[in-house]
Amino acid sequence: MTAGNVRDVIILGGGPAGYTAALYTARANMQPLVIEGVAWGGQLMITSDVENYPGYPDGVLGPEMMQDFRRQAERFGAELVTDDATRVDLSSSPFRVWIGDEEHRARTVIVATGATARQLGLDSERALQGRGVSYCAVCDAAFFRDQTVVVAGGGDSALEEATFLTKFASKVSIVHRRSEFRASPIVVDRARANEKIELVLDSVVAEVLGIDEGRVTGVVVENVETGERTTLPADGLFVAIGHDPTIALVRDQLELDQAGYIVTRGKSTATSVPGVFAAGDVQDHVYRQAVTAAASGCQAALDAERYLAALDTGESTAGAPEASRAS
Ligand code: NAP
Repeated sequence: MTAGNVRDVIILGGGPAGYTAALYTARANMQPLVIEGVAWGGQLMITSDVENYPGYPDGVLGPEMMQDFRRQAERFGAELVTDDATRVDLSSSPFRVWIGDEEHRARTVIVATGATARQLGLDSERALQGRGVSYCAVCDAAFFRDQTVVVAGGGDSALEEATFLTKFASKVSIVHRRSEFRASPIVVDRARANEKIELVLDSVVAEVLGIDEGRVTGVVVENVETGERTTLPADGLFVAIGHDPTIALVRDQLELDQAGYIVTRGKSTATSVPGVFAAGDVQDHVYRQAVTAAASGCQAALDAERYLAALDTGESTAGAPEASRAS
């Protein structure tokens, strides 16, 4: 239901969280407008096989799964705009969202803009994404049973992922650009004690090999002290150098944590602004899975629906101290 040209909900983002929020709000007759982004689909668009999403017993390609999500949201009337939102004003209700000069207004906004895995920035890395280059060990480790892999990074993610990968791979080389690790000591000790893990320190990944073969065959590593280059034969490269939440649109308008993720209240998806909800990786640096993102998209939709119901019946919007300005 919309009041005048003010919608009930605008959803920012076209990944598992955004489309799930769209599906639920569409089925609740909230006629969501989903500004899905030019590069809709999110991180799953650079993944090949997804084997850990329930309901796909034979696995599914990441892009195909996002097509399915998108179609399902559209089937119930979600309006999708394949463009990027360029500006958002959450300072008063109705909230305002722009795509260039085109303004949209809504009583609630669900921010589901996701996060991006940091990339090394190599052409060969990009060419082999989903063909041995991965940004998610939890998702892809099982594809590397009895194979050799390289992990790039020296933080908690890199060392934990390397240790996790040893459950499958026969050998894991951690390539880190310094000799000291950023990861916590206990995580470092665990990795050092693992016989399958080799540490390649003061080194960076200079090139990923295998473009002609269509899959990773090796990784060229450069020692940053000596400039010496060595080729490590490898079937996979896991890049674990951190993630960046996509918060450019809302940076100064919502409370963020130290790492830049949107802070949500308790078990809800409520943000610091009543009527604005956040779902998926933009508010979660812990789980980062398609299924957890989808689940929080569902939560955000239910939170938004209940928030509007409370506004419409004049009840207090729980946890929304500034709700009066949204009426
Ligand atoms: P992070 O702590 O930011 O570490 C990123 C690592 O990648 C650093 O070692 C960094 O090197 C390296 N790096 C960054 N850019 C690089 C580049 N262009 N080329 C080569 N190396 C590069 O990220 P994270 O490991 O993903 O962790 C993110 C947050 O989640 C952290 O607060 C972490 O403690 C937390 N976390 C916690 C757990 C846990 O407690 N179980 C598990 C995972 C993550 P430098 O060290 O030289 O900067």
